[in-house]
Amino acid sequence: MVVMDLKEFIKIGYRNYKIDVWPDSFASTEDAEGEFFSKEGKIGIKGSTIGSAHGANTVLHEILHGIIYQYGLGEDLKEVKEEKIVNTLANGLITVFVDNPWLLDYFKSKVEVEHHTHKINSEQNGGPQG
Ligand SMILES: [Zn+2]
Repeated sequence: MVVMDLKEFIKIGYRNYKIDVWPDSFASTEDAEGEFFSKEGKIGIKGSTIGSAHGANTVLHEILHGIIYQYGLGEDLKEVKEEKIVNTLANGLITVFVDNPWLLDYFKSKVEVEHHTHKINSEQNGGPQG
């Protein structure tokens, strides 16, 4: 089995968020498995969960909070609504990934095409211009 560890940072929008792995004894503000800190630029995840689909769900959950914040949707959603939307989408997406094992490989292959295109474009342009 391949164990894919989390990286130290995750880029959401223009910003790199630090991924903080918490010991299990760490008491978060709302007894959560993870938490998104917009001002501090951090995502906290409980260490004992990250090796499971449950942990992946938590990581996806916090990423969705990050997207909502970073792309300016947070002010349109009341906090309770945001939590419900994030919960539903994270649980739904992880379930779709579990039920369709080919899907993440499909996404990965298409994202790699995009990376390749970016690389060619930046080489042809010789880096950032004016
Ligand atoms: Zn949440």
